[in-house]
Amino acid sequence: MGKIYSSYKCTGCKKEFVLLTEDIEKFKGYLACPYCNNRNIKSLKVEDSLKECMNERVYKKVHGAIRQVSQK
Ligand SMILES: [Zn+2]
Repeated sequence: MGKIYSSYKCTGCKKEFVLLTEDIEKFKGYLACPYCNNRNIKSLKVEDSLKECMNERVYKKVHGAIRQVSQK
Protein backbone atom coordinates (compact mmCIF):
# COMPACT_ATOMS: atom_id res chain seq x y z
CA MET A 1 0.00 0.00 0.00
CA GLY A 2 1.66 3.17 -1.17
CA LYS A 3 0.57 6.72 -1.09
CA ILE A 4 -1.22 7.64 -4.26
CA TYR A 5 -1.49 11.22 -5.31
CA SER A 6 -3.76 12.82 -7.84
CA SER A 7 -3.27 16.13 -9.53
CA TYR A 8 -6.09 18.56 -9.92
CA LYS A 9 -6.44 21.82 -11.74
CA CYS A 10 -8.72 24.62 -10.69
CA THR A 11 -10.84 25.93 -13.51
CA GLY A 12 -11.13 29.26 -11.70
CA CYS A 13 -7.59 30.40 -10.93
CA LYS A 14 -5.94 27.79 -13.23
CA LYS A 15 -3.61 26.60 -10.48
CA GLU A 16 -2.67 22.96 -10.08
CA PHE A 17 -2.43 21.11 -6.81
CA VAL A 18 -1.89 17.58 -5.55
CA LEU A 19 -4.20 15.67 -3.25
CA LEU A 20 -3.84 12.34 -1.51
CA THR A 21 -6.30 9.80 -2.84
CA GLU A 22 -7.45 8.98 0.68
CA ASP A 23 -8.26 12.65 1.24
CA ILE A 24 -10.13 12.75 -2.03
CA GLU A 25 -12.27 9.84 -0.86
CA LYS A 26 -12.80 11.50 2.51
CA PHE A 27 -13.86 14.82 1.04
CA LYS A 28 -15.62 13.47 -1.99
CA GLY A 29 -18.12 16.02 -3.25
CA TYR A 30 -16.59 18.72 -1.09
CA LEU A 31 -13.24 19.16 -2.81
CA ALA A 32 -12.30 22.74 -3.44
CA CYS A 33 -9.32 24.65 -4.73
CA PRO A 34 -6.93 25.44 -1.83
CA TYR A 35 -6.08 28.76 -3.45
CA CYS A 36 -9.48 30.27 -4.19
CA ASN A 37 -12.02 27.75 -2.74
CA ASN A 38 -13.48 27.19 -6.19
CA ARG A 39 -15.40 23.90 -6.33
CA ASN A 40 -14.85 23.64 -10.08
CA ILE A 41 -11.72 21.53 -10.17
CA LYS A 42 -10.84 18.77 -12.57
CA SER A 43 -8.64 15.73 -12.18
CA LEU A 44 -5.49 15.67 -14.29
CA LYS A 45 -5.08 11.86 -14.09
CA VAL A 46 -1.32 11.74 -13.85
CA GLU A 47 -1.16 9.12 -11.11
CA ASP A 48 -0.57 6.30 -13.57
CA SER A 49 2.69 7.82 -14.72
CA LEU A 50 3.70 8.41 -11.12
CA LYS A 51 3.14 4.86 -9.90
CA GLU A 52 6.39 3.62 -11.39
CA CYS A 53 8.30 6.06 -9.21
CA MET A 54 6.38 5.39 -6.01
CA ASN A 55 8.87 2.97 -4.53
CA GLU A 56 11.57 5.56 -4.09
CA ARG A 57 10.26 8.93 -4.97
CA VAL A 58 7.21 11.10 -4.92
CA TYR A 59 6.65 13.78 -7.44
CA LYS A 60 4.53 16.74 -6.59
CA LYS A 61 3.25 19.25 -9.01
CA VAL A 62 3.61 22.61 -7.38
CA HIS A 63 2.85 25.84 -9.16
CA GLY A 64 3.03 24.11 -12.52
CA ALA A 65 6.44 22.54 -11.93
CA ILE A 66 7.10 18.94 -10.98
CA ARG A 67 9.27 18.67 -7.92
CA GLN A 68 10.92 15.52 -6.72
CA VAL A 69 10.33 14.83 -3.06
CA SER A 70 12.48 12.23 -1.36
CA GLN A 71 10.72 9.92 1.06
CA LYS A 72 13.89 9.06 2.94
ZN1 LIG B 1 -8.60 28.10 -7.66
